[in-house]
Amino acid sequence: MSDIAFNPSYFNLWFSLCGLILNVVVMIVYSFESTLPTKQGRCFLLLTGAITLVELLTLWHCIWLDSAGLQQMVPVAIERYLTTAEKLVMLGTPLLAIRYIMEIYHLRLTKAQTMLMLALPQAISWLTVLSGLFSSFFFHYNERGEMLYNYPQGVLAYANAVVFLCFAAYKNFHYGYTLSIERRVILWLYLAMAILGAAMRIMTGSVSVYEFFLSISTLLYVYTLQNPREYMNLEAGCYNRRGFDYIIQTRLAQGRTFAVSSIYIDDLAILESTMEEQKASEILHGITDFLRQGCGESAEIFRLQSGVFAILTPTAEEGKSVRAMEYVCERFKEPWHGAHTGQVRLSAHACVMLCPKEASDLQQIVEILDQAEVEATRQSKLVIRTQELDMENRMKRRRIANAVKRAIEEHHFEVYYQPIFDPGTKRFTSAEALLRLRDPDMGFISPAEFIPVAERNGMIVQIDKYVLEEVCRLFAETDIRALGIRYIEVNLSVVDCIQSDLADRVMDTMRRYRVAPEEINLEVTETAEEGVSYTMLENIKKLAREGVAFSLDDFGTGYSNLMRMTQMPLKLIKLDKSVVQPAFENDYSYRILLGMIRLIRTLHKEIVAEGVETEEQSLRLIRLNCDHIQGFYYARPLGRDNFLRFLRDKN
Ligand code: C2E
Ligand code: MG
Ligand code: MG
Repeated sequence: MSDIAFNPSYFNLWFSLCGLILNVVVMIVYSFESTLPTKQGRCFLLLTGAITLVELLTLWHCIWLDSAGLQQMVPVAIERYLTTAEKLVMLGTPLLAIRYIMEIYHLRLTKAQTMLMLALPQAISWLTVLSGLFSSFFFHYNERGEMLYNYPQGVLAYANAVVFLCFAAYKNFHYGYTLSIERRVILWLYLAMAILGAAMRIMTGSVSVYEFFLSISTLLYVYTLQNPREYMNLEAGCYNRRGFDYIIQTRLAQGRTFAVSSIYIDDLAILESTMEEQKASEILHGITDFLRQGCGESAEIFRLQSGVFAILTPTAEEGKSVRAMEYVCERFKEPWHGAHTGQVRLSAHACVMLCPKEASDLQQIVEILDQAEVEATRQSKLVIRTQELDMENRMKRRRIANAVKRAIEEHHFEVYYQPIFDPGTKRFTSAEALLRLRDPDMGFISPAEFIPVAERNGMIVQIDKYVLEEVCRLFAETDIRALGIRYIEVNLSVVDCIQSDLADRVMDTMRRYRVAPEEINLEVTETAEEGVSYTMLENIKKLAREGVAFSLDDFGTGYSNLMRMTQMPLKLIKLDKSVVQPAFENDYSYRILLGMIRLIRTLHKEIVAEGVETEEQSLRLIRLNCDHIQGFYYARPLGRDNFLRFLRDKN
């Protein structure tokens, strides 16, 4: 017994046995994961199966070598065929490994590449091994009956392995960035182990070390590259968002053309949240199965969000994709059934885009998908095309971005001032600075349009710097203090607020024009993003310490987080016009307004009511104790000279 355990001539046997056990574990792990029948999965199973077979044959051979009984039962001649078979399968594993890596990277080879890189080296390797049956040029058998390579010519048997390793290394270099770090490391580790295993095999002559190394790789694969949870949406039985990003990126990196169709299913999110998990999954599987049938074998299905599916088809044919989506949307007019669910009615819209023609990077694709969701529902079109979005929205945004850039260079911006009424003194004691853009070609562009664009591309920082500068100049160059203006409100974008030098810059500008901190009131809006709010808060606190006051703009819309509102050193809260205006149209809205005013009062903040358009609104808001009133009823935003004239007139 101790002879078997410690005698080096039995090491082969132990390595084979361990390798075999490892591979059985891999197969068990893999079969317990509920996966989808993908090509990558099939390649993985083939590879694991081949390695298992090699290990079984090696194990058998090791035992045969040491067992006189077996040698009598199975004569040498037969054993040589078995050994040859083992070698053939073993030298087939690089081919399977390369097919697997091709699936991971979604690579397709041309006929010539297949011949040169796969078929030819494989044929050389296999023929070398087969020659061992009738010639001893590449191989010889020792006295124990082991098949041994004759070097250097025996190296020819590794011809395919060498080509495959180079190929895989090259692809890893090229496309590795599309994978997660973990996956990239695993693929490199696989190559390192294959090289190390082959080297050890040549040096030691051991038959089992190499196979053992391969088994370790499959074990690594099964927990990473074959881990379905990472890239699959198991509820719906298709790829998830990460799978989408990854497959799209690899396709784009390879310069392939393909079509992405997205399907927006109304009410699916609600349905899912109200239904039992298993029942919802039945419906979801029904949908993915239908999509798979409807879009053909080569299509890949993704679930990007609860109610958003995407289909990737390898041929970018517009007509075909549009027809397929029309067919899909038509199907949604019929109800869906599951074995344990009743009838479920859903409706769907779709969008078709051709890549890379219409979108050439992942971000662009995702942007179009988001926009198409809104547009498809708005236009109540069954299938919307990317060009239809382009005209409506994308081109316009691009043109606006250009206009903004030009406006900065050629000074097309102008700051307007909207006077704000103070019922206490019955005078206009403040004003809001509002930016105006008049493009020579596009004419007047509303801030509601160009501010979001400028926020996206970062130009807003420069723009707001300009506005603050203009406001300070107004204080320095005119007599608005004497005309009754105590402070001017200046809007700050969230993008400004996350600039770490915001506070210093603002203070610096104000000092330069000798404007007191109390004379500028910065308006901020709340955002939903926690991370952004932290830096924002730091900036606000720093400026507040210097004596600059803050207003919370647009209160009553979007993301007014009451908790965070109490954390900010705010002086004023501005009630948005969407809260103010309906309050005088129905009782319900009126009570909401009352509640808000009461809330702001308990926090001891001043109130500004925005969007006041009639005398009646103004009177009632004054009666409700609003501290400041802003709106078209008193004045529209005015250019600098008109603003000064207005103040001289009214104050
Ligand atoms: P905001 O800060 O809430 O500004 C108030 C908006 O309401 C202004 O629109 C103003 O013209 C409008 N308004 C005032 N009174 C009335 C009224 O009685 N009825 C109606 N229907 N509207 C009224 P504007 O100038 O188009 O600006 C829109 C938004 O663009 C602003 O909303 C602000 O968020 C942003 N914005 C404007 N100028 C700047 C700026 O210099 N920097 C930054 N970051 N944002 C700016
Ligand atoms: Mg404002
Ligand atoms: Mg506002």
